[in-house]
Amino acid sequence: MPFREGIDALIAEPIVRRPGRQAVSGSNGVVRQLVYWRIEAMITRQLGGTDLQVSILGFGASPLGGVFGTVTENDAQCMVHTAIDRGINLFDVSPFYGITRAETVLGDSLRGIPRDRYVLATKVGRYDAALFDFSAERTIRSVDESLARLRTDYIDLIQCHDIEFGSLDQVVNETIPALRTLRDRGKVRFIGITGLPLKIFPYIMDRIEVDTVLSYCHYTLYDDSLTTILPDIVERGVGVISAAPLGMGLLTNDSPPNWHPAPEKLKSACLNAARVCRDQGVDISRLALQFALENPFISSTLVGIGSPGQLENNLDCVGTGPDEVVLKMVLDCFTSVHNMTWPSGLPENN
Ligand code: NAD
Repeated sequence: MPFREGIDALIAEPIVRRPGRQAVSGSNGVVRQLVYWRIEAMITRQLGGTDLQVSILGFGASPLGGVFGTVTENDAQCMVHTAIDRGINLFDVSPFYGITRAETVLGDSLRGIPRDRYVLATKVGRYDAALFDFSAERTIRSVDESLARLRTDYIDLIQCHDIEFGSLDQVVNETIPALRTLRDRGKVRFIGITGLPLKIFPYIMDRIEVDTVLSYCHYTLYDDSLTTILPDIVERGVGVISAAPLGMGLLTNDSPPNWHPAPEKLKSACLNAARVCRDQGVDISRLALQFALENPFISSTLVGIGSPGQLENNLDCVGTGPDEVVLKMVLDCFTSVHNMTWPSGLPENN
């Protein structure tokens, strides 16, 4: 679909909202009335040229692997069931998260839920912080292992994970063709690619057809550089998933995990922005997610869900939209670090 027609179709998207009002008290003692729109049901969007309708809020399952701290199996099950009850249908995981633990916990938590109630996305190619293998043999074995851990006989979306760490040509010539053979056998339905540097996506899309692109940390309050390639991806009919709208923990009131790769300048700008938000009685995580969910060209935004309370707060953002005054104040905090990122993978892929 041409980009302009795409815009018109997306603007016509039906949204059921009702107004809400909440009194909030800032740390400076000022009480403000926040007026917001409450969504009655989950909003879904088409995932590119696939036949999948995905919830705009997607369940990022990396926390189930203990990536951000311990999550009990009980909480995991409770979160997965609540998410499905409340209309989230996209679940994203990888063998890498918690070194297979996240897949196992997610598979256990999904037991008994009808398979057509959720869209399952997982990955191949990354198996540890520094362990990558995009060979056809490992790819095929990895999908079988994931199917067993996830207790299913097909994966809706299989993605090549963090491809900037490997040879992009191997992904084109070996990994994706291997996944296509699995698609022909009915083990996977759609094929995608994921990674941090944006330049990897056109490189692959120019050489081989893919169904989806998963970009992370590039559509957030401090970095919206995904918009530079978004029209091109949408024009190609490729579905866009944006992950980590909270910058992998940077845009929260807690400190990011020790392994976080962001430069110190960005980390301190985020701390300052969180304080500015708090002074206005607004939680920066809420503002960040509201901002991310608004973009109609992003089919789904994946947030890492670490607790039932976070899930509730994140569901509450759907269909609301950010407070424009606070948003402007926060964006101003990020002027000197706008689109700041960090290197990832092989130098030639950055
Ligand atoms: P994120 O930006 O979603 O941040 C997650 C962190 O924020 C966790 O610590 C979580 O507990 C916390 N959080 C979530 N909601 C909160 C709330 N309301 N208030 C306060 N804190 C809150 O980062 P992420 O988890 O890394 O990314 C989301 C998902 O996207 C991942 O789980 C994964 O599925 C996917 N992802 C994929 C790739 C890739 O394929 N290369 C990279 C990054 C993320």
